[in-house]
Amino acid sequence: MQNENVRAWLSSLPQTNAHAHLITGAGCSEGALAAAALLLCRKPEEGQACRMCQACHWFAARTHPDFLHIGTHDGEKTIKIRSIRQMRDEVALAPRLGRKVIWIEEAQRMSEEAQNALLRTLEEPPPNVVFLLSGQEDGLLPTVRSRCAIFRMGTGKIADSELQSEAERLLGLLFSGNVQELANQYNEKKAVLSRIFGLQAELLRDAVAFALDAPLLRESSRNFTAKLSSGHNISMLNAGIVRLLEAQKRLTQNANIGLTIDFVLIGLEGFFCNA
Ligand SMILES: [Zn+2]
Repeated sequence: MQNENVRAWLSSLPQTNAHAHLITGAGCSEGALAAAALLLCRKPEEGQACRMCQACHWFAARTHPDFLHIGTHDGEKTIKIRSIRQMRDEVALAPRLGRKVIWIEEAQRMSEEAQNALLRTLEEPPPNVVFLLSGQEDGLLPTVRSRCAIFRMGTGKIADSELQSEAERLLGLLFSGNVQELANQYNEKKAVLSRIFGLQAELLRDAVAFALDAPLLRESSRNFTAKLSSGHNISMLNAGIVRLLEAQKRLTQNANIGLTIDFVLIGLEGFFCNA
């Protein structure tokens, strides 16, 4: 399962600021476990847990005091709010070592109540806690998804349709000026970010089309597009499209990622403050 994408993602994990990750696709449970081991390890190297330190021994024996695994119990089909409440009591206590890692396996099995309880924790995350949700994106509330950095397992090229919700999420980050997470997450992943900028340009183009009652390129983002369209006039949207396409071009020409994000941000600044 350690293909190049997964390795790059794991290597970037210890540096990211994201406190919640959603891991989807084939092998997502293994991915979540590898991430948990890495985040708990005291001496990680190149995106891998060392398997030698005390934390790694505890993790292998499933006795790490800062690791909590939540899943379905005893043949039940849903993860109930009770499990999330217990977890919240647990994360209120300081970690024994560096940080706590909470793994919610098959996160889509959380009841709506459970998801809303989790959401409250994700909105005001306790310090030094990282949440790993693995499973299917579809069963999760959009509010929960939007709080997570999403990583899709699997080999080969990521389909545009899979990047689309990420493009929406990152556009939201750009509008709010909250770009640090974006810079951390896509450091070393220029090709993917370049495609995301292209998709974002298409979403803005759809917002123009929406205003003109023309057909949309990305019908599945219609709600997002409608919101964009109501908040911004056409010339603003067009300016954003030009800026995003230029950024996309720069990344394919191997421009510096941080500078390119700044370039986009300056272009979007001012007219997106009401987004
Ligand atoms: Zn270790």
